[in-house]
Amino acid sequence: MTPRKELVPRYRPGFWGALSERERLEIAIGAILTQNTNWGNVCLALERLNLAQVLELEKLSKIKAQKLQSLIRSSGYFRQKSRKIKIFVEAVLNRGGSLKNWLSGPLEKTRKELLSLWGIGPETADSILLYVSQRPIFVVDAYTLRISRRLGWVHETSYDKLQKFFESHLPKKSSLYSEFHALFVALAKNYCRTKPICRGCPVSDICAHGVQVLRK
Ligand code: SF4
Repeated sequence: MTPRKELVPRYRPGFWGALSERERLEIAIGAILTQNTNWGNVCLALERLNLAQVLELEKLSKIKAQKLQSLIRSSGYFRQKSRKIKIFVEAVLNRGGSLKNWLSGPLEKTRKELLSLWGIGPETADSILLYVSQRPIFVVDAYTLRISRRLGWVHETSYDKLQKFFESHLPKKSSLYSEFHALFVALAKNYCRTKPICRGCPVSDICAHGVQVLRK
């Protein structure tokens, strides 16, 4: 039996090596599955997809919707997500069947193509471009928005404006953008929760909200 650790995706800080098509597909499917749920639920779904050995374009294209839904059930909204995966997989197959080739095309055009697919919004499209294809595009998620506002960096809530804010203040580098994203997630989970734990937070001395809270 395949060891469990081989079936679930792993975050390897600083790793930015070459990815196989199989790994690219797993990351893209993970980006779709993670909509409106936590990563633990996505890992379970990916583990089941791996166990069933269906994480291949042709297999995902042919698998019955009901079967796919049962494999990804843990990620929630499984009927919608199954349809999204099917549509995404067809789009890749219609463009030659290589994620690497499709996603390395002109950035704006490729992003528009992703956004034209049902169920792919800006966060999912940008996650796919950044993590599957290492394109320098900043991913904005709910954690990024929450922390940036509390830090006092932005008052914006629009996805595009927030993305522009980060891209105009940081060097255009995909490895830096992905590290930022991972650090926002870690900070949100450990300190900057819905109810923030400002005492001990590593950025409390530069945080507008944190400074106010700790002064009390
Ligand atoms: S100091 Fe508080 S509000 Fe600011 S980032 Fe840290 S946990 Fe969030």
